[in-house]
Amino acid sequence: MEKKKRIVIALGGNALGNTLPEQMAAVKITAKAIVDLIEEGCQVVISHGNGPQVGMINNAMAALSREDAKQPNTPLSVCVAMSQAYIGYDLQNALREELYNRNIYDIPVATMITQIRVDPEDPAFLNPSKPIGHFMTEEQARNAEKKYDYIMREDSGRGWRRVVASPKPAEIIEIGAIRSLVDSGQLVIACGGGGIPVIRQGNHLKGASAVIDKDFASCLLAEELDADYLIILTAVEKAAIHFGTPEVEWLDDLTTSQARKYIEEGQFAPGSMLPKVQAAVRFADSKEGRTALITLLEKAKDGILGKTGTRIHQ
Ligand code: ADP
Ligand code: MG
Repeated sequence: MEKKKRIVIALGGNALGNTLPEQMAAVKITAKAIVDLIEEGCQVVISHGNGPQVGMINNAMAALSREDAKQPNTPLSVCVAMSQAYIGYDLQNALREELYNRNIYDIPVATMITQIRVDPEDPAFLNPSKPIGHFMTEEQARNAEKKYDYIMREDSGRGWRRVVASPKPAEIIEIGAIRSLVDSGQLVIACGGGGIPVIRQGNHLKGASAVIDKDFASCLLAEELDADYLIILTAVEKAAIHFGTPEVEWLDDLTTSQARKYIEEGQFAPGSMLPKVQAAVRFADSKEGRTALITLLEKAKDGILGKTGTRIHQ
């Protein structure tokens, strides 16, 4: 029998929604798309983002410490851990149900709480860039700066938001455990929200105030698991050049050198499509035969069958 293709799937914001009820509904659709791939004979590993969820948890924990003087503010690393468990819970529940609905009873589903080591010297710590949480007035923002040492930025005319550092992932601490589960045929959700960022201090791992980009964390996970495919599921069917202009050109098939040229031209927006294309290029270049695919959640099956999406290879 041919060896199953191993696929790491990175789920974006639209696979999870923005609120508790939205997430509950979204994971049902997401589970269908993922189980479709399992039925196609793929071995799937799942990772996901946490932008809205980590913002929501961070705000809730800040409200707790405002109301109760005995409760210190919750570190961002702990908020990421909470978001992993909350999203993992909804996803693993929906996946189990979808597998059972299709009479597949032999694939256990598990979420691995995953820490990812980052470099304390990563320049991203000096330049926090990732907005999280809700919008505030300037006055509320100045207050948050004083009270919690947050760094606040005005976000394109829409109000003020907290920005956090987004360092590159250096090492997945729980990779051995993840690999054992995947190798034994379990459906694993790992590196959620880009992983809990930690800094090594001797034997201690200290939580870092940061949120790692899930596209880069998923790329590292795919490399470490020797996956054949990295599939980044997002809100567009394909990546494009001249995006948002009448000259828009949707991309089907790209070599990594073509993709790098488009990156240099600034074709992909930082913070949204750019990290996806960068992660795709990195994965495809990491070993011969590795392919990355960027497409819509609902098109995951068509994508793996070669019918749509943007495919990036050497
Ligand atoms: P996710 O939550 O899946 O990471 P993002 O919003 O971060 O989603 O990134 C996907 C978005 O990137 C698309 O919805 C699209 O609006 C935007 N985007 C920016 N540049 C491009 C481009 N060149 N081609 C396609 N989409 C682009
Ligand atoms: Mg994103």
